[in-house]
Amino acid sequence: MKFAIFNVSESEQRVLDEWTKKTGHEVKVVAGSLNAKSVEEVADCDGLTIKQTSKIADELVYRKLHEFGIKSLNLRIVGTDIVDFDLAKKYDLLVTNVPAYSPRAIAEMAVTQALYLLRKIGEFQANMVNQHDFSYPDRLQSHEIYTQTVGLVGVGHIGAATAQMFSALGAKVLAYDVVYNPANEPFLTYTDLDTVLRQSDIISLHTPLLPSTQKMIDEAAFKKMKNNAILINCARGGLVDTPALIKALKTGEIAAAGLDALAGEEKYFGKQVQASDVPSDFQELNAMPNVLLTPHAAFYTQTAIRNMVEISLNDALAIREGKRPQNLVH
Ligand code: NAD
Repeated sequence: MKFAIFNVSESEQRVLDEWTKKTGHEVKVVAGSLNAKSVEEVADCDGLTIKQTSKIADELVYRKLHEFGIKSLNLRIVGTDIVDFDLAKKYDLLVTNVPAYSPRAIAEMAVTQALYLLRKIGEFQANMVNQHDFSYPDRLQSHEIYTQTVGLVGVGHIGAATAQMFSALGAKVLAYDVVYNPANEPFLTYTDLDTVLRQSDIISLHTPLLPSTQKMIDEAAFKKMKNNAILINCARGGLVDTPALIKALKTGEIAAAGLDALAGEEKYFGKQVQASDVPSDFQELNAMPNVLLTPHAAFYTQTAIRNMVEISLNDALAIREGKRPQNLVH
């Protein structure tokens, strides 16, 4: 059989080559996203996998896929908001995604950022590199993780993996989630959001961005936090009110922040841009010695990329063969 894969990165290509060798099926690489023009590229294919942020709103795309005999839209990402489900249904297209390509990849980034900031590694390094200062200033004395309380907001796939890691390091782990999962009990203590914010030395966010979570970490939330608190956001930028975060860091309301996600990042994370395109809030945060920024890179591991490509193609193949796919959304 022949499948089309859109928007392939260099690291995905390696996995793709292995998949075609292993399964004996052919894969056609199509540049860019799936849209009304590029849909013509799949006329000779049995299925397709896509990875994009632009919504597939044009009915023509769904109609063409149906006419070409394609049975599904296979997303190799988590978010399914790019699909118009009414149109998918109208044209008999099943939709699959990859909801948990590697929770550990994100959890490890959160733990790494927290330990980096807790041990003030960036500040020691900046002193040495910029000022030939190899001394031990009082303000750079730190704590050991087993003496710290970690507060997690959202303990689904990624939050649970993060809880397990912090718990293995000896930290006390508190968690707030709207859903109770008894499987998490060995690694954390469930409590309310207020207690997480007030009692934690490290606060790590792991909820989706929803109307109920938009800017959930705002000025009032920062006021509740300890002055030594470290905020980690490896989820979505919109969970945090960025101006309130900058203010909290400047006034010493909290001690540090590790951010793999920042509101408005879509315009520049994952790309090489002109200096003038980098927003002022990013520049302001980047200049702070107690802030660590990464460009939404928590997912970027070999395991995660492999899972995104393989799981998505395997689901496309399963649907063609009349079998049940692993991650059916609709
Ligand atoms: P998940 O669906 O398994 O878990 C999310 C958890 O958040 C669930 O337990 C849910 O009950 C909880 N939740 C929902 N609304 C809440 C609220 N108002 N208050 C408290 N808890 C709430 O998702 P996941 O796979 O663990 O992913 C979590 C988030 O991580 C994603 O939505 C995404 O934003 C982010 N993410 C980031 C990267 C990255 O590279 N930085 C990669 C993948 C995912």
